[in-house]
Amino acid sequence: MASVTLSNAKKSYGSLDVIHGVRLAIEDGEFIALVGPSGCGKSTLLRMIAGLEEITEGDVLIGGKVVNELTPRERNIAMVFQSYALYPHMTVAENMGFNLRLSGVPRQAIAERVAEAARMLDLMPLLNRKPAQLSGGQRQRVAMGRAVVRNPAVFLFDEPLSNLDAKLRVQMRSEIKSLHQKVGTTSIYVTHDQIEAMTLADRIVVLNQGRVEQEGTPMELYKTPANLFVAAFIGSPA
Ligand code: ADP
Ligand code: MG
Repeated sequence: MASVTLSNAKKSYGSLDVIHGVRLAIEDGEFIALVGPSGCGKSTLLRMIAGLEEITEGDVLIGGKVVNELTPRERNIAMVFQSYALYPHMTVAENMGFNLRLSGVPRQAIAERVAEAARMLDLMPLLNRKPAQLSGGQRQRVAMGRAVVRNPAVFLFDEPLSNLDAKLRVQMRSEIKSLHQKVGTTSIYVTHDQIEAMTLADRIVVLNQGRVEQEGTPMELYKTPANLFVAAFIGSPA
């Protein structure tokens, strides 16, 4: 069963139609890159999938259930943004475990899950530091760790690396790739970086003005872009 399904999902803000009837079936464990120009509706589509928007028409299903009818815990979705608000007075370990503590997970289980995520993300030596003692890349890793410990069914990333410098972006890109290889969580990753999309994704979805222009594997889009718009974003420079 598809883990995320959009069937003719539409979103309007008043008279402004932002998402026009998107159809998409994302399989369990797939890594999808969602690309498109600024303002085309990428963040809106992610918020719809996260259950944070009223859906104007059509359906958004998570694990076969209407997302807006599920509680946040049932949805079990974790979002990672470009701006990661860590709590400054808490250590890395406390930041990572905070949501679990709110959900009443026992202390010992929290410690185990934090340690497991910290090993995956190379955060073990940093667990007792405060956010102010971390670099930008380390903070972004903590933000990912905070999402990983929740063991979500779906990861949503909204341009998580766009605030980092070029060198760190390359490093974080490979960390996200290896994280996905380890945990295999269904992921939807918004980016306007073509290389990020090509290297991370099983499948790329190109959005333009709230419509899907094309979807396919990175190679399919690169070799046979459906139109000039897709070619400009992904296609070979032929
Ligand atoms: P992207 O993430 O691709 O840059 P967004 O999803 O943020 O695009 O925005 C798509 C369009 O929807 C834009 O025209 C934006 O101004 C509009 N929009 C987004 N959120 C709202 C909102 N809460 N109210 C009104 N318009 C919105
Ligand atoms: Mg956006």
